[in-house]
Amino acid sequence: MSRILVTGGAGYIGSHACKTLAANGFEPVSFDNLVYGHRDAVKWGPLEEGDITDRERISEVLGRYKPVAVMHFAAYAYVGESVQDPAKYYANNVGGSLTLLAAMRNAGINKIVFSSSCATYGVPEHVPIVETEKQAPINPYGMTKLIVENVLRDYGTAYGLRSASLRYFNACGADPDAEIGEDHDPETHLIPRAMMAVSGEIPELDLFGTDYDTPDGTCIRDYVHVTDLADAHVKALQRLLDGGQTFGLNLGTGSGFSVREVIAAVERVSERKVPVNEQPRRAGDPPVLVADVAQAKRVLDFEARFTDIDEIVNTAWNWHQRPRPQQSVR
Ligand code: UDP
Repeated sequence: MSRILVTGGAGYIGSHACKTLAANGFEPVSFDNLVYGHRDAVKWGPLEEGDITDRERISEVLGRYKPVAVMHFAAYAYVGESVQDPAKYYANNVGGSLTLLAAMRNAGINKIVFSSSCATYGVPEHVPIVETEKQAPINPYGMTKLIVENVLRDYGTAYGLRSASLRYFNACGADPDAEIGEDHDPETHLIPRAMMAVSGEIPELDLFGTDYDTPDGTCIRDYVHVTDLADAHVKALQRLLDGGQTFGLNLGTGSGFSVREVIAAVERVSERKVPVNEQPRRAGDPPVLVADVAQAKRVLDFEARFTDIDEIVNTAWNWHQRPRPQQSVR
């Protein structure tokens, strides 16, 4: 069975990728420092605790498992924190990636699927966003992702590394079997926050910005289901294993929903009212971010299967209602 090293395999998107890898006959080996990841999200292969900034530890794990390729999810991903503490983001997201790549080179592994972001586009001039759009991040988080994309391209030219940089739009939802799901601490994302508000875990949902130039005044995003993202990763991996060259692509559904539309979906699915507190705009939020999905279709034959917002929210809601030892209030 082909082994794949999955950095960040105990995290939200990484754990879903592990499930899909296993379903496609791969053995995922999760490498995670468990700072944000969850031990019990690693269910489809071994967990190796370690940090991507620890060259010796990565080398030891690569040497022992001899994976045929790497999926690299491990990164810090709070945009606001990246503005407050850029050193943490550059050291981990960029420095850690360089360390990982050095260990991979040393071990003779030359294929990597990289978790990038639509944050690399910053405030796009054209929506839907085509891959040829200028990549001009507006925060350190997005910049770390763009730097790594560039590193991967340069390593491809110089050292024969082959990579797929997958730029996700708004990852959301949970495994339809509710075995794993979104579990961030702190949780900042819209859908889980709205569910926390209906469940009384937080008093109300802050709605950031009601005066955007959009039909209902709230931001529009492309919400792509995490299981669809996982499928796209396995397709990208397969392409690299089949000899495909380096590429970068958007992963989205191609359709946008406004914050108010998402809130309405949470209300329909939960059959409860979301208490909302209208707030000013959140710094750095562009009005509309929607992916052009033609290239993902062309290159990977990828098309999101979850396009109905109620269906997406329903998977998240089922996961949210799992039994938990204690309900913490954040
Ligand atoms: N949002 C909101 N209240 C929240 C969290 C998010 O109104 O508590 C809005 C946010 O301003 C953005 C959209 O919901 O327009 C999606 O934000 P999220 O943080 O989920 O993802 P991001 O777009 O930042 O990756």
